[in-house]
Amino acid sequence: MIIVMRAGAPEEQLQEVIRRITELGYQPHIIRGTQRNVVGAVGDERGKARLQSLESLPGVENVVPILQPFKLASREFKADKSAIRVGDLEIGGDRLTIIAGPCSVESEAQLMETAQVVKEAGADILRGGAFKPRTSPYAFQGLEEEGLRLLAQAREMTGLYIVTEVIQPEHVELVAKYADILQVGARNVQNFALLRSVGEIRKPVLLKRGMATTIKEYLMSAEYILSQGNYAVILCERGIRTFETETRFTLDLNAIPVLRKMTHLPILVDPSHGTGHWEYVGPMAKAAIAAGADGLMIEVHMRPEEAFSDGIQSLKPKRFLSLMEELKPFAEAAGREM
Ligand code: PEP
Ligand code: MN
Repeated sequence: MIIVMRAGAPEEQLQEVIRRITELGYQPHIIRGTQRNVVGAVGDERGKARLQSLESLPGVENVVPILQPFKLASREFKADKSAIRVGDLEIGGDRLTIIAGPCSVESEAQLMETAQVVKEAGADILRGGAFKPRTSPYAFQGLEEEGLRLLAQAREMTGLYIVTEVIQPEHVELVAKYADILQVGARNVQNFALLRSVGEIRKPVLLKRGMATTIKEYLMSAEYILSQGNYAVILCERGIRTFETETRFTLDLNAIPVLRKMTHLPILVDPSHGTGHWEYVGPMAKAAIAAGADGLMIEVHMRPEEAFSDGIQSLKPKRFLSLMEELKPFAEAAGREM
């Protein structure tokens, strides 16, 4: 349910509404607006009719149900797009956010070199996995904490913010100590214990769409994080499984306008995993911007042929640099800055 406060209702009235929501066994989630405040009351769907009684409280304009199963992620709860702050960056604002870097953190030299290159090309955030969720248990699993330290060192050197993946709840605290944004990968999109754990911290989470999750299921996963009080959730379409085998996945660009309509959360696109081949990254990056994405996540490697993971889909520095130039007219046409 959404409890809409009257314009200018004093703080005491808002606090009373919050108290009553809690008393009824629901969790209050507040959106403070310039005109009026709105409180979302989420919890057991079965008894929600009881919340209707809040309509008689002073300062309450009306109480309306949220029809979508994902509540806090919905446009019904929050009509305006959310922009998520990371230092001086705003993800989901007018400016596109560009995340770039290697699939995995492999060594100090590799990461520092790549960080420098993507910084010079104009990226905002450096990516790199320290904990890797690999299909094979025999494949490189990541440098773990050493990888996190290297990412922090690269941030120090370049001023880039860093995003890195967390694959299990026990590591959330450790990863949050180093990262500016925690990534939950496609393979963990329905790892509800992990979603709850990243919901408990107060750092942005980049939640990738699963390769077989519907848009609704995807938003329910985002809801797990939001329901724990972490409202800084960034979505990222990264391709889904279809019958097509010429590409690693099928980048679902439909998801951009569909998600845009259904949720206020920022939407990024990862054309690297979405295609699985460096040659297709550029065209799909442009298409993503044209379709309204808030930014891109792109894998870049100094020497893709030597990469520990995802070399085939990684751009070499020169290609990334020219792509960044080529993206500018697309950004402009989409009404975005770069
Ligand atoms: C990654 O970003 O390197 C990654 C593993 O992505 P995904 O979870 O989308 O496969
Ligand atoms: Mn990868």
